[in-house]
Amino acid sequence: MAKTENYTHYVCDRCGADAYLAANSAAANDWRDVERFDQYGSKATRLLCKSCTDAYKQLAAQQDAAFQAFMAAKEQR
Ligand SMILES: [Zn+2]
Repeated sequence: MAKTENYTHYVCDRCGADAYLAANSAAANDWRDVERFDQYGSKATRLLCKSCTDAYKQLAAQQDAAFQAFMAAKEQR
């Protein structure tokens, strides 16, 4: 039985999915550390699996669009 070292245990902060991956494996690239600033400027960092990263990108795109709309509507109060 071979023994392989230097694996990292990934656990998704959203759905709890986990995986043991070598740092140079293709699957490790599917995991993302996402950073987000709340209304008070506090930064939250979360580790997300591939499917949660895809879902987060959709949320971020909606928030990007809302921010662009907010900035474009400067004459409205
Ligand atoms: Zn997940």
